[in-house]
Amino acid sequence: MKRTKVVDLLKDPALIGTEVEAKGWVRTRRGNKHVQFVQLNDGSTIKNIQIVFDMAKFSDEELKPVTTGSSLCVKGILVESQGKGQTCEVQAESLLVYGTADVEAYPLQKKGHTLEFLREIAHLRPRTNTFGAVLRVRSTLAFAIHKFFNERGFQYLHTPLITASDCEGAGAMFQVTTLDLNNLPKDEAGKTDYSQDFFGKPTALTVSGQLEGELGATALGQIYTFGPTFRAENSNTPRHLSEFWMIEPEMAFYDITDNMDLAEEFVKYCINYALDHSLDDIMFLQEMYDKDLVDRLKFVVENDFVRLSYGEGVKILEESGKKFEFPVHWGTDLQSEHERYLVEEHFKKPVILTDYPKEIKAFYMKQNEDGKTVRAMDVLFPHIGEIIGGSEREENYDKLLARIEELGIPMKDMWWYLDTRRFGTVPHSGFGLGFERLVLFVTGMTNIRDVIPFPRTPGKAEF
Ligand code: ATP
Ligand code: MN
Repeated sequence: MKRTKVVDLLKDPALIGTEVEAKGWVRTRRGNKHVQFVQLNDGSTIKNIQIVFDMAKFSDEELKPVTTGSSLCVKGILVESQGKGQTCEVQAESLLVYGTADVEAYPLQKKGHTLEFLREIAHLRPRTNTFGAVLRVRSTLAFAIHKFFNERGFQYLHTPLITASDCEGAGAMFQVTTLDLNNLPKDEAGKTDYSQDFFGKPTALTVSGQLEGELGATALGQIYTFGPTFRAENSNTPRHLSEFWMIEPEMAFYDITDNMDLAEEFVKYCINYALDHSLDDIMFLQEMYDKDLVDRLKFVVENDFVRLSYGEGVKILEESGKKFEFPVHWGTDLQSEHERYLVEEHFKKPVILTDYPKEIKAFYMKQNEDGKTVRAMDVLFPHIGEIIGGSEREENYDKLLARIEELGIPMKDMWWYLDTRRFGTVPHSGFGLGFERLVLFVTGMTNIRDVIPFPRTPGKAEF
């Protein structure tokens, strides 16, 4: 006989009255000397299947190892449930215990552990309802992302994780080396001799696949990347990880408006897909953590995002009369508190801010005619702040080169990138979505460490 997943046991009426085989991990066990009830979960759904042991058929000894966390195979008849709270249950006929879980040692014995405690046992937390739900939503969203781009003819491009350019422009990098750090080879000037390193030069983990993404877009037309990125910044916030996943579409022949349209359609599609395919999990998270979750998700999907310039946004902030921790005026980078004021208090809608001062944005963004601003766009979300950052790219060779020289970016890193503008340059645009920020939004969790299975943050790289 073949095992049936719990999700199917609970929803397939044709199975009622038949013999089934359920496998999974015990969540709870209760009962009396006549009958024992076990809640079994196999990760296929937030719901458990109830296993009923008629103690006329089983001995106490046989059921002794059936404790929270132990793993079982149960054969029995699937019947409609007499009790409240479940539609059907398995009346056990045979029991096999795969593995026990010592009651004293197994840390997930009691319910109601704090999220902070669960982070300390991230190797086991996927077995909780909360992390089961979060990880399933995460997986659903990852699939939605591929589906969205695939349906629109985008090619999935794999950009390198190890890079030799230190000008990707998005933040501090983790160095990659095989040199013996206790015995570094030196050159004549007394500096580390990287010619002896693995790649013959300094390398690091990527902070963004965008520059290579542009190489792909100017050949394949429309590409997206979806992979890990690394930032060695000491930002201990609920919205930053040192290792996170990013989705970076890049499109030839798209201007900034096309780019905004795509970004808005994209996030709405993903949220809708999660509502359609992970509603059980989202409802659980709503009940446990965030009473307004579904309303907020629907609100974002159903409303147009507000679009305005950085300048207009700053004016609203200045005139708000609100005391911000970081003062704001034209030229300052917006902090999360400013972004959230615009989204949550002023417009009460997601906002796309455009046309930022060029000084606070990356060198590759297309310069506006005013000489002061660039065609950047940040998508700002309630609870999250910045969820997407993107721009139309500077496609003019001379302007891009001038900006690179102005900022002192070394040409050894840039020649291949500039070739896109030298040979058949085209208007093009793209953006980066932080995957965990999307998962945060859709799950209603408040700390980014709780939406990735094994978080890496300053001082923490466990499991
Ligand atoms: P922030 O201002 O929030 O630090 P950023 O402007 O440095 O972000 P970008 O370089 O524009 O970020 O990266 C694109 C997207 O990647 C961001 O909009 C965000 O969703 C996500 N992101 C950036 N840094 C992190 C991080 N450290 N952890 C998780 N997601 C991140
Ligand atoms: Mn950004």
